[in-house]
Amino acid sequence: MAYADIIIDISAPTLDRSFQYGIPAELQDRAEVGSPVLVQFGSSKTPRRGYIVGLSDKPKLDPWKIKPILDIPKRDMSIEDSLVELAYRIKRRYGGSLYDSLRTVIPSRQKIASVPKRKIRRAMPKGDLQEVLADLSARETAKARLYAALLETEEIPYELVTGKLKISKAALAKAEEEGILTVAELAESESEPGQGLTVELNDEQLAAAGAIADSLGHGGVFVLHGITGSGKTEVYLSVIEKALAEGKQVIVLIPEIALTYQTVLRFYRCFGDRVAFVHSKMPAGERYRMHERAKEGKISIMIGPRSALFTPFPDLGLIIVDEEHETSYRSELTPRYHAVNVAVERAEMCGATVVLGSATPSLETYRCCETGEYKLLTLSKRAKDGALLPRSEIIDLREELKAKNYSVISRRLHKAIEERLARHEQVMLFLNRRGYAGFVSCRACGYIAKCPHCDISLTYHNDGTLQCHYCGHRVPYKKACPECGSPYFLPFGKSGTQKIEELVEKEFPKARVLRMDADTTKAADDYEAILSDFAEGRGDILIGTQMIVKGHDFPNVTLVGALAADLSLGVADYACAERTFDLLAQAAGRAGRDRIPGEVIIQTYRPEHYAITTAADSDYHTFYETEIRYRKSFGYPPIRHMLTIVGGHRREAALEKAMEELGGLVRDTVKTADAAVIGPTLPQMPKKNDMYFRVIYVKSGSIETLITVKDAAESWMHQARGGAGLTFDMD
Ligand code: ADP
Ligand code: ZN
Ligand code: ZN
Repeated sequence: MAYADIIIDISAPTLDRSFQYGIPAELQDRAEVGSPVLVQFGSSKTPRRGYIVGLSDKPKLDPWKIKPILDIPKRDMSIEDSLVELAYRIKRRYGGSLYDSLRTVIPSRQKIASVPKRKIRRAMPKGDLQEVLADLSARETAKARLYAALLETEEIPYELVTGKLKISKAALAKAEEEGILTVAELAESESEPGQGLTVELNDEQLAAAGAIADSLGHGGVFVLHGITGSGKTEVYLSVIEKALAEGKQVIVLIPEIALTYQTVLRFYRCFGDRVAFVHSKMPAGERYRMHERAKEGKISIMIGPRSALFTPFPDLGLIIVDEEHETSYRSELTPRYHAVNVAVERAEMCGATVVLGSATPSLETYRCCETGEYKLLTLSKRAKDGALLPRSEIIDLREELKAKNYSVISRRLHKAIEERLARHEQVMLFLNRRGYAGFVSCRACGYIAKCPHCDISLTYHNDGTLQCHYCGHRVPYKKACPECGSPYFLPFGKSGTQKIEELVEKEFPKARVLRMDADTTKAADDYEAILSDFAEGRGDILIGTQMIVKGHDFPNVTLVGALAADLSLGVADYACAERTFDLLAQAAGRAGRDRIPGEVIIQTYRPEHYAITTAADSDYHTFYETEIRYRKSFGYPPIRHMLTIVGGHRREAALEKAMEELGGLVRDTVKTADAAVIGPTLPQMPKKNDMYFRVIYVKSGSIETLITVKDAAESWMHQARGGAGLTFDMD
């Protein structure tokens, strides 16, 4: 390659402006995509630093007008260099252009107004405020949240109150007038140091924190496996304190939905103004300002969802990923990177330590403990004195059908709800419906129609067939169950939360029912308001999708009901048993967090399925052993890697033709390698918004083979005019 496309300014708002330079012969072997270069730019005499974003053998101008690259210096691993390097690695593994990756990693420069640093302080004695709080009407929920927070913490950052708590400026002004609080403006130099650690760690926590702290400075990946309430967060706080004491910075990833006001406040109380938070709906200018503050050393801890991973800390010492099994750590936009993998990658580049925390580690992560790549640390009991693990019971819905109970609530669950209502305890009911309904199961015997080649459930199609979305296998749909002959062998439709709400209101007319799902939480942060209402006792029963079982403390919830636990087992996805286990284990973690023992009732048509029995017993190890055996026999990740290539096009015929061609190309590419190619075939959603989709799966033990396939497919896509648009999904 004789020419290189170079961007001069990686934080320019539009990155598509690159400039072509010539590569002198003596620099040829150092010229790679991502390499830093020195070039003469514009009229300036001093060389400027840029980065190579593309290589080609064709000049875009007359060759004599193209200036040569002056030098390709060794990376000095300044924070810019290492972030560009990280972007390059993301692009390489997950596909898309380097621009896409750079935009993911580096926020574009924005004009930013300076924002005054403000705090909200309690202005009246605790006792008085308690009375004010008690006098609020039931509808003043936002105020109630604010006052409750001020009772816990005397001083709260302004942004937290207007943002997470959603208190309007007018409401704040009014409260200030009433003498409840003051809004104080602080100088940049004035800062709240936080009160440090307040809890004394138990032996297990000490051992875990010690092992992690010992690795600071040279790195390593730790898996902190601890049930909900076992005190993982306290371990994080302790090792963060150690990292800060060594002058290093820390990134904490938390799934957006778990980044509640309580969590934020917990970190703030401990570390004061050294902590900053980002969230996905933050305006670009705000994110840019955060990055500037991080570079300048004004903050040392960044907490947020996956984008927080790219905070440009110059001396990053520790990355914590809480709830590391969460699917939200995978980006849905190109590049479709997985934050856990990228965290490990970034940490490796700078010698930082990684902590992956979860009650139900992902199979990928736990497998790395088995192979010795990661170190396993375990917290085996609940940290609070006397906090008990909930009891679980599995209810066989087939028996309900036999007893002519057609309600989605079993007799046992009905009785348990009544008991809780009588005792003024709270109940959560959740429906783990995810993805595309359409799998076919027998309500009488629990049989699910599955593909004999892929062990994935078949999906019902309107043409009266059942199809496998992995290999295309199809059989005609017959109304009688092939296993037991029952006529209740039906496709699962949408049995929505709204329907369940109506039913619950009918069965329990006196109960106050709250519902949380995609419909009731359209606006950002709505879910927080519903959760707060429930947490503060303004509802007896909370109904929702999996959203409700994630990361929130409800001390008064003593019963959790999973209405149809196997719904998520029918999803046409090799990881559906893992998702089901995670959800049920998480749900169990919500019951009985305090001294009142909790109970979990799992309703299912498939009471014998290992994902359900092991979740009921909180037995991660048995689940893992069973699931990894299944992945082994079918060669699914984490045993082998799997690349999914999705092609989309407005015209179905053109798509089919293109994907056939691509399928041939992929097969040629892997001919001699250890790899299996499946497809093109139908994806879970074969048509969406008038776009048609087809998919090709490639499995291989070597990720490099799959990267080669992806690169070949990408350059095929760029050459094929009007061809299929492709997206890639690695593992
Ligand atoms: P996790 O993050 O694993 O769900 P947390 O760190 O939130 O667990 O701890 C659960 C509860 O137990 C919290 O209220 C926390 O303050 C308390 N806790 C944690 N560690 C201890 C400890 N060593 N002693 C007493 N209470 C603790
Ligand atoms: Zn049957
Ligand atoms: Zn199949």
